[in-house]
Amino acid sequence: AQSALAAIDARRDLNAFLHVDPELTLAQARAADAALAAGRAGALAGVPIAHKDVFVTRGWRTTAASRMLEGYVSPFDATVVERLAAAGAVSLGKLNCDEFAMGSSNENSAYGPVRNPWDPAAVPGGSSGGSAAAVAAGLVAGATATDTGGSIRQPAALCGVSGIKPTYGTVSRYGMIAYGSSLDQAGPIARSAQDLVELLDPIAGFDERDATSLERCGGRPNAAGRVRAEFDAFRAAAGADRPLQGLRIGVPREFFGPGLATDVAHAIDAALAKLEELGAVRVDVSLPRTELSIPAYYVIAPAEASSNLSRYDGVRYGHRAPEYRDLADMMARSRAEGFGPEVQRRILVGTYVLSHGYYDAYYLQAQKLRRLIAEDFQKALRGQCDVIVGPVSPTVAWNLGEKADDPVSMYLADIYTLSLNLAGLPGVSIPCGFGAGEVNGRRPVGLQIIGDYFDEGRLLGIADIFQ
Ligand code: GLN
Repeated sequence: AQSALAAIDARRDLNAFLHVDPELTLAQARAADAALAAGRAGALAGVPIAHKDVFVTRGWRTTAASRMLEGYVSPFDATVVERLAAAGAVSLGKLNCDEFAMGSSNENSAYGPVRNPWDPAAVPGGSSGGSAAAVAAGLVAGATATDTGGSIRQPAALCGVSGIKPTYGTVSRYGMIAYGSSLDQAGPIARSAQDLVELLDPIAGFDERDATSLERCGGRPNAAGRVRAEFDAFRAAAGADRPLQGLRIGVPREFFGPGLATDVAHAIDAALAKLEELGAVRVDVSLPRTELSIPAYYVIAPAEASSNLSRYDGVRYGHRAPEYRDLADMMARSRAEGFGPEVQRRILVGTYVLSHGYYDAYYLQAQKLRRLIAEDFQKALRGQCDVIVGPVSPTVAWNLGEKADDPVSMYLADIYTLSLNLAGLPGVSIPCGFGAGEVNGRRPVGLQIIGDYFDEGRLLGIADIFQ
């Protein structure tokens, strides 16, 4: 724990950590030592991890990278935090991210952007940029993250590490600061598929404190042990010679359109060839509404965000404007001062699409599209292929500031990740090579492996063999 704290201090240039508290960390480390000595250590005893700053934590401050929650300390731990601590993991602190998890580059943090460890000129991706950068820089073995529209998979891809967004409802959202509740899902970022199993297995499981938490995953209970058992079973069944023999990998033609950068396309093609060498069979599939996932998501996510963020009113908690005329003025000023520009933009879009007269035209249409997008995946996954494979991001990491003034170009970068959240499906992102960089010439590319509901164990098994 001491050396990890020193390493974090030595890499302050990355701006990956928002809150570090050596006393809290060392207390957890001592508890892990004691458990080891007493022979009752959890599976993660002493493993250094850190949490995205949207998970509430007793002790460490929680800000969601917003001025609105500056200095806030939660009276309780999120379920994910609690479960990792129970397994013995030692938290090194709280990780930077986009404000309220809104963004794709980590430039929307009120506490400054995170830098990509591969290249300080590049963004780390977002919104879990601190999580991906901390793992990529070797500061922690794993980190928690959240994925509403790609925020686990895309920063993992851009930082050359691995991440999994589990099936909606398998990991508890209790204590996770809400963005788009019907889309939000927590998951780990780590270096390898095996490490993702170690971190996901203990956090996945039913939680009665989350109303959308699932009690069952298909035929099986949603409980610790499920992901690991399915991962182990897949690995055990894989032959040594061609371990992916007969696995049908669907390659959606819409993921390889003109928007895909050639360097990323090359790395993905090489990954597909490697999967075929391992025995997988390539199947051409179609996800015809891929492009429509962008407008659908950027209506639904802001709509839910505008509702979720109404709680930050300067009354109950969070920032309160120092001067005001009356109650309405106090709320308006508190919100104007506390929320950054991207968060305000989302609230405005969200309240607009939910307004009388616009609801049918935007929100309802987006919900209908959402259903059709989910059906497209079902058509592919329940007949044509076993998993779907493609890029995570259309480009490698771009330069800090490059898209900062153009929100729409930032939204377009989410094209391959949003549809899974709309459908609730699981997806893994693993490193598969490098594209052309502008400074050091090495910017990582991520491969996305998408499965049917509750397929986490098998997806990680495939990722593990590929790695
Ligand atoms: N980039 C997307 C957004 O800004 C997704 C963010 C996320 O997954 N939290 O909404």
